[in-house]
Amino acid sequence: MARGKRRRGTPKREYEELDVSRLRLSIPHVELKRGIEFQVQQTMGTNAEEGKTWICPMCVVVIEQGVVHTVAWDVHRGVQSRRHFHNNCWKLFDGLLP
Ligand SMILES: [Zn+2]
Repeated sequence: MARGKRRRGTPKREYEELDVSRLRLSIPHVELKRGIEFQVQQTMGTNAEEGKTWICPMCVVVIEQGVVHTVAWDVHRGVQSRRHFHNNCWKLFDGLLP
């Protein structure tokens, strides 16, 4: 290992920032829906660019930043397939996107 302090360059944008509010969020985990593995985590969306909102695919209602909600993606399709759900909508989600 090299000696001396070395500062990392640009921090990763997503899921890296630690703040107290995150302690209320559930830790990332995998859930099975219809045999499909989903990587699931909760977020407040505060790492996204300012003003960014999401449309919940279940109820088609906007999710604003600062609202605790669920981000999930198909493990096999990868993180690019991630969608943002209201927590309750995620519970109702059966693995098939409408
Ligand atoms: Zn919803």
